[in-house]
Amino acid sequence: MDNQASVVSFAPGRINLIGEHTDYNDGFVLPAAIDLGCSCRMRKNNKRLLNIWADDIDEFYSFDLKTKQRLETIPTWFKYFLGVFQEMSKQDEDLSGIDLNFSSTIPIGAGLSSSAAMTCSLAIGINELFSLGIPKKELMYIAQKAEHNCVGIQCGIMDQFASIYSKAAQVNLLNCNTMTFQPIPFELGAFEIVLVNSGVSHELASSEYNKRRKTCESVVEKAKVRNISIKSVSDLNLDTLNMLKPALTDIEYKRATHVIKENNRVLKAAAALQNSNILELGKLIYDSHSSLNEQYEVSCDELNFLVDATKELDYVLGSRMMGGGFGGCTLNIVAQEHQRLFRQKISSSFQKIFSTEPEIYDVKISEGAQILSESN
Ligand code: ADP
Ligand code: MG
Repeated sequence: MDNQASVVSFAPGRINLIGEHTDYNDGFVLPAAIDLGCSCRMRKNNKRLLNIWADDIDEFYSFDLKTKQRLETIPTWFKYFLGVFQEMSKQDEDLSGIDLNFSSTIPIGAGLSSSAAMTCSLAIGINELFSLGIPKKELMYIAQKAEHNCVGIQCGIMDQFASIYSKAAQVNLLNCNTMTFQPIPFELGAFEIVLVNSGVSHELASSEYNKRRKTCESVVEKAKVRNISIKSVSDLNLDTLNMLKPALTDIEYKRATHVIKENNRVLKAAAALQNSNILELGKLIYDSHSSLNEQYEVSCDELNFLVDATKELDYVLGSRMMGGGFGGCTLNIVAQEHQRLFRQKISSSFQKIFSTEPEIYDVKISEGAQILSESN
């Protein structure tokens, strides 16, 4: 490919039916890509410069790869790209700089993984542009490391996995310990997924997210001291957790309880989906929310209100907060024939309390990341 060639790459955001805060605990999740995502158009510039235009917010930032710029002076959105570029430079130290424009159809910070869409889109794009031949699995880890090392979010692997590996019309039961997955046809019969955006931007999310992760690591350390040899909280069950209870703080006990029970719910939900038992799936989704709110403490008033409001609607089978928490969307299983009514009811009751109308989205379960075009 010559220097003037350009590549357009696309990577989607995702939903996660159930399994929240389990990925970084080596547990189970049930995500799928959606029909919203991030497109990157890039070409080599043969300089040691990363020139990036964020078209949606009309910002430009240029980074000189020869110098060491302090991370604090760099806009947050740019760090996702810089992080990926730095990881990929480890594969080929002589990577030239690039000129890149990107835009995304994913609402930012709504729990639909706008961040992984950016990093995965760039990773597959650079792989193509420079003919690096990096396998999918490694691209997924590169995208994750960008958030760890450059943005400072110790995220799990679910978002990047879903963005890169998903296929249309199926959700994936992913075991984050073995990184093996089982695709399950996404068939909800007369029901569909509707997302309601609380509009609360999850500012607390990054610090609280890392805190949750540390608490879980502390549980693992305390287990080891007591000769319960585990690699992650997901290796515990309720019996071993109770044996360990005297050594744990109340908070540690609650967090671990969530993880253990949530893993169980994911497996049950996968079975329910396979058996077309959408009623059961809905109940598990409601239980997941209660646990995220009470045990893991990552919900907020707006999310709780949105979930509680659905309990009066007999055409909604399940509702829960989705993503890291402290804002973002709820995921709802709604009867297709009452979708419009659902939108009206939720909008008006939310507006009465919070004086703003929530955005509501239908999503389609879609293909994972792909190169859209190349030109010479
Ligand atoms: P989520 O991945 O759930 O959407 P994150 O907090 O992980 O939320 O990532 C959101 C961050 O990603 C934003 O703060 C911003 O820096 C960046 N981002 C996402 N989409 C865009 C976009 N279209 N333009 C610029 N920055 C974006
Ligand atoms: Mg994210």
